[in-house]
Amino acid sequence: MNTAALYHRPESEFCYLYKDGSVHVRLRTAKDDIQSVKLIYADPYKWASSGVGNADNTNSTNYWVYETKKMKKLLSDETSDFYQTEVTVPTKRMDYVFVVEDQKGKKFVYTDKGVLPYKKSLLKSKYAAFRLPYFHQVDAYHAPSWVRDMVWYQIFPERFANGDTSNDPEKVKDWSDQAPDRQDFYGGDLQGVLDHLDHLVDLGVNGIYFCPIFKSPTNHKYDTEDYLEIDPHFGTKELFKTLVEEAHKRGLKVMLDAVFNHIGDTSPFWQDVLQNQEHSKYAAWFHVNSWPVVGDEDPDNFENSTNLTFDTFAFTPHMPKLNTANPEVQAHLLHIAEYWIREFDIDAWRLDVADEVDHQFWKKFRTTCDAAKKDFYILGEVWHSSQPWLNGDEFSAVMNYAYTGAISDFFVKRKISMPQMISAINDQLMLYRKETSTVMFNCLDSHDTPRFLTECKEDKNLFKQVEAFTYLNPGSPCIYYGDEVGLTGGMDPDCRRPMIWDEDKQDKDLYAFFKDLVAFRKENAELLADGTMDWCVVSESNGVLQLERKLGKKRLIGTFNTGKKAVDGDLKGVLLSNRAKIDGKHVTIKPKGFVISRG
Ligand code: CA
Repeated sequence: MNTAALYHRPESEFCYLYKDGSVHVRLRTAKDDIQSVKLIYADPYKWASSGVGNADNTNSTNYWVYETKKMKKLLSDETSDFYQTEVTVPTKRMDYVFVVEDQKGKKFVYTDKGVLPYKKSLLKSKYAAFRLPYFHQVDAYHAPSWVRDMVWYQIFPERFANGDTSNDPEKVKDWSDQAPDRQDFYGGDLQGVLDHLDHLVDLGVNGIYFCPIFKSPTNHKYDTEDYLEIDPHFGTKELFKTLVEEAHKRGLKVMLDAVFNHIGDTSPFWQDVLQNQEHSKYAAWFHVNSWPVVGDEDPDNFENSTNLTFDTFAFTPHMPKLNTANPEVQAHLLHIAEYWIREFDIDAWRLDVADEVDHQFWKKFRTTCDAAKKDFYILGEVWHSSQPWLNGDEFSAVMNYAYTGAISDFFVKRKISMPQMISAINDQLMLYRKETSTVMFNCLDSHDTPRFLTECKEDKNLFKQVEAFTYLNPGSPCIYYGDEVGLTGGMDPDCRRPMIWDEDKQDKDLYAFFKDLVAFRKENAELLADGTMDWCVVSESNGVLQLERKLGKKRLIGTFNTGKKAVDGDLKGVLLSNRAKIDGKHVTIKPKGFVISRG
């Protein structure tokens, strides 16, 4: 057995409190390396014969009264197997070790002090057990329960709808001009969103993620001038309040974008620094490496300022980085976080460039939001492995680009093989507690990526196949505005084209497909959140991929033909399909087609 591959860490995604006082325990081993593994566990103080003992009692006349539970192989990646079990200990304290049996039948005990040859006395004396000292619910990861039912809809407000031409910026482009440049304005606003709430209701989505709406000179508004004002080109606070109320009436949650890593260079704080240099009362609000600081007058200069004397977002002189370790900056930003929750009743914050802001600040941010509203959702923009932010004291979830990227890398870009995609997906699921995976934000595209239909080279069948596959996975899907009617576009600014409202130009077939998919996701929300993941068929030879999700007696099977020839077989209870011929139980799926069925 490869003992070096054995891995476990208490109070992490390998051992955590789950629902109703239960604990999930995971163990990683090398792939196909062991026959079985049992968890040996009990209250640390549960000794026999002498009654109450102490946790370190090694008196040979006493022995630890432990329970045994066989662990199940949950998922595998290319090099490892992950075993998991769920246990409860009524006393809310737990010591535990693992008894691992290798392929030759030889047994080992994996303890907090390493791997030892098996001896029953090790268990009876509770030698070097791992420990969960007390089940503190207050420290547990809690996801707001409403998030698992969500299908989000992302709106880039400048491009969704122009509901009020009186607030338009100067020289707006014609809405029908589908070639946005970096600095262009089209006049989209909050009234436009209010006017089209029924479009979202008809589509079936139940939450809106707004890109920034606070006062800022650009069309994207990721360079905030004033976090306490709605941008005048978007509307007023009264209008935003009405918009949230009307959204809530229709069952739609509202998530705003907080850009706290950096501020816009037109903000009064940064302007004061430029004017007064080290004597500015805001000098410590930023990361200035040497004085004097010199800004940049050229609004188009976004990428080429590597000789700045202050830290910025990327190398953008227009976005000086905020010093979130400074108490005054913290107080200012936490006030903003609370203000929009208390005064406008928003349900969630999305945090821009969240990984470049310190953890100490995010812990305070979390406490502030929790105090302001129950079941508040915090979504961080993190594109890579995100465990440090997802332990329960910072974010609820991250934008799951690592997960959806693996899907796209196989189905669309063909950069990785089918087994590599499955390995990457399983790996992602094993990076987080189960509850975390259920509330991840699964977007295939956004304002920061090419449109997914464009990634698919406008192959609608491929697009539908990948969307259906993504909706079958744990996590809340998100539709980027316009995807549902066939809006296309490459990397930004092209992915920020104006929404298509002319019904003759909308793709009605895609819209009907999305309506069905969203309805399917909502009807099966519990199963898709909590159900097991079982890769039933993984065939590289004919391209068939079959994923089963199961919860109790309910199950869903997704069958995807990623190959070049039609495939056939028996499936029953078809719920959704594309490019499939269904003849009673017999189903034929063409290339790029799929079927989601009950059995
Ligand atoms: Ca307008």
